[in-house]
Amino acid sequence: MADNVIGVCKSVDEVTRLTTKNNREVSKRTLNLIDMSGKLVTVTLWGEDAEQFDGAGQPIVAIKAAKLSDFGGRSLSASFSSTLMINPDIPEAHQLRAWFDRDGHAMEGQLLTDIKSTSGGGNTNWKTLSDVKNEHLGHGEKADYYTCMATIVYLRKENCLYQACPSQECNKKVVDQQNGMFRCEKCDKEFPSFKYRLILSANVADYGDNQWVTCFQESAEAILGQNAAYMGQLKDSNEAAFDEVFQQANFKTYVFRSRVKLETYN
Ligand SMILES: [Zn+2]
Repeated sequence: MADNVIGVCKSVDEVTRLTTKNNREVSKRTLNLIDMSGKLVTVTLWGEDAEQFDGAGQPIVAIKAAKLSDFGGRSLSASFSSTLMINPDIPEAHQLRAWFDRDGHAMEGQLLTDIKSTSGGGNTNWKTLSDVKNEHLGHGEKADYYTCMATIVYLRKENCLYQACPSQECNKKVVDQQNGMFRCEKCDKEFPSFKYRLILSANVADYGDNQWVTCFQESAEAILGQNAAYMGQLKDSNEAAFDEVFQQANFKTYVFRSRVKLETYN
């Protein structure tokens, strides 16, 4: 079984030398890579790769066709047919670097299985984003719920705020009557004011995949680090500051609890 792996080299062991059965000496070195899901993978390098590897500065390591050498997919071995790349110039590597420098360095690598068993609560349903696609979550009659750890890679500024009914329990969008009044169809009433609400489209990524999620009021406020009323005020008065909030919110990693349901239009 072969696999491609990319991660930040969190730690590295010293080279050791083994003597093979036919009396050849071979060098061996073990690296611990961490990916954006916080999953720790142990990779063994052999021969020249092991001799020459320099873990200083915690480089990004990508290995094509690494061999699975331990059960559970936790330990990989870079065999002689594998390709080892250090700090490759590919988008995934840049994304990983940005994530690691910002959040990942503080994260103690946890095996994904450990995260699952310590998260508590029976219905967290941990998934990677590629699991969500491969298992066709949301394609059934009922919505599916899952939990994933992912990093914000893009936030859509356009249409993230809407003017909502100011009455307490109602968050319905109001229609601007262009005369200083705002009409709520649900309450069947006109109001002299509205409140801003957030509905934020975010593109989130983990190591294997990315996807769009819609974050409503509270989760959008948590991601932006500002409340909806303040965001509305900035949007109307200070576009540069408004943009800055989005810049600051990028590349942060969260645990997302998501509902997924495939909607069929028409
Ligand atoms: Zn209303």
